[in-house]
Amino acid sequence: MTDKQNRPRVAITIKPGAKLRLRDIDPRPQPALDKETAKQRTKANAVAIDELQDRLFAENKRVLLVVLQGTDTSGKDGTIRSVFNTAGPLGVHVTSFRVPSAEELAHDFLWRVHKAVPAKGLIGIFNRSHYEDVLVVKVKKLAPTELIEERYEQINQFEKHLHANGTSIVKFMLHISKEEQKKRLLERLANPKKQWKFNPADLEDRKLWDAYHAAYEIMLERCSTPWAPWHVIPADDNWLRNWAISEIVRDKLEEMNPQYPRLTGQAAQVKID
Ligand code: ADP
Repeated sequence: MTDKQNRPRVAITIKPGAKLRLRDIDPRPQPALDKETAKQRTKANAVAIDELQDRLFAENKRVLLVVLQGTDTSGKDGTIRSVFNTAGPLGVHVTSFRVPSAEELAHDFLWRVHKAVPAKGLIGIFNRSHYEDVLVVKVKKLAPTELIEERYEQINQFEKHLHANGTSIVKFMLHISKEEQKKRLLERLANPKKQWKFNPADLEDRKLWDAYHAAYEIMLERCSTPWAPWHVIPADDNWLRNWAISEIVRDKLEEMNPQYPRLTGQAAQVKID
Protein backbone atom coordinates (compact mmCIF):
# COMPACT_ATOMS: atom_id res chain seq x y z
CA MET A 1 0.00 0.00 0.00
CA THR A 2 1.34 3.45 -0.90
CA ASP A 3 1.96 5.81 1.98
CA LYS A 4 -0.83 8.23 1.20
CA GLN A 5 0.18 10.84 3.75
CA ASN A 6 3.69 11.29 2.44
CA ARG A 7 3.28 10.90 -1.26
CA PRO A 8 3.95 13.88 -3.53
CA ARG A 9 0.95 15.52 -5.18
CA VAL A 10 1.17 16.62 -8.78
CA ALA A 11 -2.45 16.48 -9.94
CA ILE A 12 -4.45 19.64 -9.44
CA THR A 13 -8.00 18.90 -8.37
CA ILE A 14 -10.30 21.72 -9.42
CA LYS A 15 -12.69 23.04 -6.79
CA PRO A 16 -16.20 23.72 -8.09
CA GLY A 17 -16.34 27.18 -9.66
CA ALA A 18 -12.60 27.81 -9.24
CA LYS A 19 -11.05 29.97 -11.91
CA LEU A 20 -7.66 28.96 -13.20
CA ARG A 21 -5.27 29.77 -16.00
CA LEU A 22 -3.68 26.77 -17.61
CA ARG A 23 -0.58 28.77 -18.40
CA ASP A 24 -0.01 29.09 -14.66
CA ILE A 25 0.13 25.31 -14.28
CA ASP A 26 3.52 23.77 -14.91
CA PRO A 27 3.17 20.80 -17.30
CA ARG A 28 6.52 19.44 -16.03
CA PRO A 29 6.75 20.01 -12.27
CA GLN A 30 9.67 18.58 -10.28
CA PRO A 31 8.00 16.23 -7.83
CA ALA A 32 9.73 14.66 -4.87
CA LEU A 33 9.88 11.28 -6.54
CA ASP A 34 12.18 10.03 -9.25
CA LYS A 35 11.25 8.45 -12.55
CA GLU A 36 12.10 4.86 -11.53
CA THR A 37 10.07 5.05 -8.31
CA ALA A 38 7.13 6.57 -10.18
CA LYS A 39 7.25 3.77 -12.76
CA GLN A 40 7.35 1.09 -10.06
CA ARG A 41 4.42 2.68 -8.25
CA THR A 42 2.44 2.93 -11.47
CA LYS A 43 2.94 -0.81 -12.01
CA ALA A 44 1.91 -1.57 -8.43
CA ASN A 45 -1.15 0.65 -8.85
CA ALA A 46 -2.09 -1.14 -12.09
CA VAL A 47 -2.01 -4.47 -10.22
CA ALA A 48 -4.12 -3.00 -7.39
CA ILE A 49 -6.58 -1.56 -9.94
CA ASP A 50 -6.86 -5.03 -11.49
CA GLU A 51 -7.70 -6.59 -8.11
CA LEU A 52 -10.23 -3.88 -7.30
CA GLN A 53 -11.78 -4.26 -10.73
CA ASP A 54 -12.27 -7.96 -10.07
CA ARG A 55 -14.19 -7.07 -6.92
CA LEU A 56 -16.19 -4.42 -8.76
CA PHE A 57 -17.15 -6.99 -11.38
CA ALA A 58 -18.09 -9.63 -8.80
CA GLU A 59 -20.13 -7.10 -6.82
CA ASN A 60 -21.91 -6.09 -10.04
CA LYS A 61 -23.58 -2.97 -8.64
CA ARG A 62 -21.48 0.00 -9.63
CA VAL A 63 -19.38 1.53 -12.40
CA LEU A 64 -16.22 3.60 -12.41
CA LEU A 65 -16.12 6.03 -15.32
CA VAL A 66 -12.78 7.60 -16.22
CA VAL A 67 -12.91 10.56 -18.59
CA LEU A 68 -9.72 11.51 -20.47
CA GLN A 69 -9.47 14.82 -22.26
CA GLY A 70 -6.44 16.54 -23.71
CA THR A 71 -5.09 18.02 -26.85
CA ASP A 72 -3.63 15.83 -29.62
CA THR A 73 -0.47 14.01 -28.47
CA SER A 74 -1.27 14.67 -24.79
CA GLY A 75 -1.09 10.92 -24.13
CA LYS A 76 -4.64 9.65 -23.74
CA ASP A 77 -3.86 6.31 -25.43
CA GLY A 78 -0.60 5.91 -23.51
CA THR A 79 -2.41 6.48 -20.23
CA ILE A 80 -4.92 3.76 -21.00
CA ARG A 81 -2.14 1.34 -21.89
CA SER A 82 -0.10 2.05 -18.80
CA VAL A 83 -2.81 2.31 -16.14
CA PHE A 84 -5.47 -0.13 -17.37
CA ASN A 85 -3.78 -2.82 -19.45
CA THR A 86 -3.20 -4.98 -16.39
CA ALA A 87 -6.93 -4.91 -15.61
CA GLY A 88 -7.37 -6.26 -19.13
CA PRO A 89 -10.15 -6.39 -21.66
CA LEU A 90 -12.65 -8.31 -19.53
CA GLY A 91 -13.25 -5.57 -17.03
CA VAL A 92 -12.46 -2.38 -18.91
CA HIS A 93 -14.62 -0.83 -21.57
CA VAL A 94 -12.90 1.87 -23.68
CA THR A 95 -14.85 4.23 -25.92
CA SER A 96 -13.14 6.71 -28.25
CA PHE A 97 -15.30 9.64 -29.27
CA ARG A 98 -14.63 10.87 -32.76
CA VAL A 99 -16.41 13.34 -35.06
CA PRO A 100 -20.09 12.43 -34.60
CA SER A 101 -21.76 10.36 -37.32
CA ALA A 102 -24.88 11.56 -39.13
CA GLU A 103 -26.96 9.37 -36.84
CA GLU A 104 -25.31 10.75 -33.73
CA LEU A 105 -25.78 14.31 -34.94
CA ALA A 106 -29.46 13.59 -35.45
CA HIS A 107 -29.77 13.11 -31.66
CA ASP A 108 -28.96 15.30 -28.69
CA PHE A 109 -25.25 15.51 -27.90
CA LEU A 110 -25.46 13.21 -24.86
CA TRP A 111 -27.20 10.39 -26.70
CA ARG A 112 -24.05 8.63 -27.85
CA VAL A 113 -22.39 9.28 -24.52
CA HIS A 114 -25.08 7.74 -22.36
CA LYS A 115 -25.07 4.64 -24.56
CA ALA A 116 -21.33 4.28 -24.00
CA VAL A 117 -21.55 4.22 -20.19
CA PRO A 118 -20.77 0.59 -19.45
CA ALA A 119 -22.82 -1.95 -17.54
CA LYS A 120 -22.47 -2.39 -13.80
CA GLY A 121 -19.28 -4.06 -12.67
CA LEU A 122 -17.07 -2.44 -15.31
CA ILE A 123 -14.58 0.38 -15.53
CA GLY A 124 -15.51 2.64 -18.43
CA ILE A 125 -12.89 4.82 -20.07
CA PHE A 126 -13.83 7.71 -22.31
CA ASN A 127 -11.02 8.59 -24.68
CA ARG A 128 -12.38 12.10 -25.41
CA SER A 129 -15.95 12.49 -24.31
CA HIS A 130 -19.05 14.68 -24.14
CA TYR A 131 -16.64 17.51 -23.30
CA GLU A 132 -15.76 17.73 -27.00
CA ASP A 133 -19.17 19.36 -27.29
CA VAL A 134 -17.92 22.36 -25.29
CA LEU A 135 -14.35 22.23 -26.65
CA VAL A 136 -13.90 21.57 -30.37
CA VAL A 137 -17.52 22.52 -30.97
CA LYS A 138 -16.99 25.86 -29.21
CA VAL A 139 -13.59 26.60 -30.72
CA LYS A 140 -14.69 25.77 -34.26
CA LYS A 141 -18.17 27.23 -33.80
CA LEU A 142 -19.90 24.02 -34.85
CA ALA A 143 -23.06 24.89 -32.89
CA PRO A 144 -24.76 28.16 -31.93
CA THR A 145 -23.18 29.88 -28.90
CA GLU A 146 -26.42 29.86 -26.88
CA LEU A 147 -26.71 26.09 -27.27
CA ILE A 148 -23.13 25.53 -26.16
CA GLU A 149 -23.65 27.80 -23.14
CA GLU A 150 -26.44 25.56 -21.92
CA ARG A 151 -24.36 22.42 -22.25
CA TYR A 152 -22.21 22.96 -19.16
CA GLU A 153 -25.19 22.68 -16.85
CA GLN A 154 -26.67 19.87 -18.93
CA ILE A 155 -23.42 17.95 -18.54
CA ASN A 156 -23.38 18.55 -14.77
CA GLN A 157 -26.92 17.26 -14.46
CA PHE A 158 -26.16 14.26 -16.68
CA GLU A 159 -23.16 13.33 -14.55
CA LYS A 160 -25.20 13.86 -11.38
CA HIS A 161 -27.77 11.44 -12.73
CA LEU A 162 -25.07 8.86 -13.49
CA HIS A 163 -23.56 9.32 -10.05
CA ALA A 164 -26.93 8.91 -8.32
CA ASN A 165 -27.33 5.65 -10.22
CA GLY A 166 -24.11 4.01 -9.12
CA THR A 167 -21.49 5.48 -11.47
CA SER A 168 -18.46 7.11 -9.86
CA ILE A 169 -16.77 9.58 -12.19
CA VAL A 170 -13.19 10.88 -12.33
CA LYS A 171 -12.10 13.28 -15.05
CA PHE A 172 -8.55 14.00 -16.18
CA MET A 173 -7.36 16.85 -18.34
CA LEU A 174 -3.91 15.99 -19.67
CA HIS A 175 -1.97 19.24 -19.70
CA ILE A 176 1.00 19.50 -22.06
CA SER A 177 3.00 22.49 -23.26
CA LYS A 178 2.97 23.72 -26.84
CA GLU A 179 6.71 22.97 -27.07
CA GLU A 180 6.17 19.38 -25.94
CA GLN A 181 3.42 18.94 -28.52
CA LYS A 182 5.79 20.17 -31.23
CA LYS A 183 8.38 17.63 -30.11
CA ARG A 184 5.82 14.81 -30.16
CA LEU A 185 4.47 15.78 -33.58
CA LEU A 186 8.01 15.85 -35.00
CA GLU A 187 8.66 12.42 -33.45
CA ARG A 188 5.57 11.08 -35.16
CA LEU A 189 6.82 12.34 -38.50
CA ALA A 190 10.29 10.92 -38.02
CA ASN A 191 9.31 7.49 -36.68
CA PRO A 192 7.94 4.98 -39.26
CA LYS A 193 6.04 3.25 -36.45
CA LYS A 194 4.33 6.48 -35.47
CA GLN A 195 3.76 8.14 -38.82
CA TRP A 196 0.29 6.64 -39.09
CA LYS A 197 -0.71 8.71 -36.09
CA PHE A 198 0.18 11.94 -37.84
CA ASN A 199 -2.88 13.81 -38.98
CA PRO A 200 -2.42 17.15 -40.79
CA ALA A 201 -5.69 18.26 -39.13
CA ASP A 202 -3.81 18.25 -35.81
CA LEU A 203 -1.78 21.19 -37.13
CA GLU A 204 -4.98 23.16 -37.64
CA ASP A 205 -5.92 22.51 -34.02
CA ARG A 206 -2.43 23.53 -32.96
CA LYS A 207 -2.98 26.94 -34.55
CA LEU A 208 -6.02 27.28 -32.28
CA TRP A 209 -4.02 26.47 -29.13
CA ASP A 210 -5.04 29.60 -27.18
CA ALA A 211 -8.71 29.24 -28.11
CA TYR A 212 -8.64 25.62 -26.92
CA HIS A 213 -7.00 26.65 -23.66
CA ALA A 214 -9.70 29.25 -23.09
CA ALA A 215 -12.40 26.65 -23.75
CA TYR A 216 -10.70 24.19 -21.38
CA GLU A 217 -10.53 26.83 -18.65
CA ILE A 218 -14.28 27.51 -18.86
CA MET A 219 -15.01 23.78 -18.88
CA LEU A 220 -12.85 23.22 -15.77
CA GLU A 221 -14.45 26.15 -13.97
CA ARG A 222 -18.03 25.13 -14.70
CA CYS A 223 -17.95 21.34 -14.74
CA SER A 224 -15.84 20.31 -11.77
CA THR A 225 -18.47 19.15 -9.31
CA PRO A 226 -18.42 17.26 -6.01
CA TRP A 227 -19.81 14.21 -7.82
CA ALA A 228 -17.50 14.42 -10.85
CA PRO A 229 -14.32 16.41 -10.18
CA TRP A 230 -11.79 17.47 -12.79
CA HIS A 231 -8.10 16.83 -12.21
CA VAL A 232 -5.50 18.67 -14.27
CA ILE A 233 -2.55 16.35 -14.84
CA PRO A 234 0.86 17.76 -15.77
CA ALA A 235 1.59 15.59 -18.80
CA ASP A 236 4.87 16.64 -20.42
CA ASP A 237 6.49 13.61 -18.74
CA ASN A 238 4.64 10.38 -19.53
CA TRP A 239 5.88 8.61 -16.39
CA LEU A 240 4.62 11.40 -14.13
CA ARG A 241 1.29 11.52 -15.93
CA ASN A 242 0.77 7.78 -15.65
CA TRP A 243 1.73 7.71 -12.01
CA ALA A 244 -0.52 10.66 -11.05
CA ILE A 245 -3.54 9.17 -12.82
CA SER A 246 -2.96 5.67 -11.48
CA GLU A 247 -2.90 7.03 -7.91
CA ILE A 248 -6.22 8.83 -8.29
CA VAL A 249 -7.93 5.87 -10.00
CA ARG A 250 -6.68 3.49 -7.33
CA ASP A 251 -7.80 5.87 -4.56
CA LYS A 252 -11.24 6.14 -6.10
CA LEU A 253 -11.65 2.37 -6.36
CA GLU A 254 -10.42 1.91 -2.79
CA GLU A 255 -12.94 4.51 -1.66
CA MET A 256 -15.68 2.65 -3.54
CA ASN A 257 -14.43 -0.48 -1.77
CA PRO A 258 -16.35 -3.08 -3.83
CA GLN A 259 -17.07 -6.35 -2.06
CA TYR A 260 -17.16 -9.95 -3.24
CA PRO A 261 -20.68 -11.22 -2.66
CA ARG A 262 -21.00 -14.11 -0.19
CA LEU A 263 -23.01 -17.21 -0.91
CA THR A 264 -26.17 -17.27 1.16
CA GLY A 265 -29.20 -19.53 1.63
CA GLN A 266 -29.22 -22.90 -0.06
CA ALA A 267 -26.21 -22.14 -2.19
CA ALA A 268 -24.10 -21.77 0.97
CA GLN A 269 -25.21 -25.24 2.16
CA VAL A 270 -24.50 -27.05 -1.07
CA LYS A 271 -22.42 -30.25 -0.94
CA ILE A 272 -20.25 -31.29 -3.84
CA ASP A 273 -19.68 -35.06 -4.14
P1 ADP B 1 -7.61 11.01 -31.33
O1 ADP B 1 -7.04 12.34 -31.76
O2 ADP B 1 -8.48 11.13 -30.10
O3 ADP B 1 -6.59 9.93 -31.25
P2 ADP B 1 -8.92 11.06 -33.86
O4 ADP B 1 -7.66 11.42 -34.56
O5 ADP B 1 -9.89 10.13 -34.52
O6 ADP B 1 -8.64 10.49 -32.42
O7 ADP B 1 -9.65 12.43 -33.51
C1 ADP B 1 -10.93 12.49 -33.09
C2 ADP B 1 -11.45 13.84 -33.53
O8 ADP B 1 -12.86 13.87 -33.33
C3 ADP B 1 -10.85 15.01 -32.77
O9 ADP B 1 -10.37 15.98 -33.65
C4 ADP B 1 -12.04 15.53 -31.98
O10 ADP B 1 -11.98 16.91 -31.76
C5 ADP B 1 -13.20 15.15 -32.88
N1 ADP B 1 -14.46 15.09 -32.15
C6 ADP B 1 -14.78 14.31 -31.11
N2 ADP B 1 -16.02 14.59 -30.66
C7 ADP B 1 -16.49 15.57 -31.44
C8 ADP B 1 -17.72 16.30 -31.49
N3 ADP B 1 -18.70 16.06 -30.62
N4 ADP B 1 -17.88 17.22 -32.46
C9 ADP B 1 -16.88 17.45 -33.35
N5 ADP B 1 -15.71 16.82 -33.35
C10 ADP B 1 -15.50 15.89 -32.42
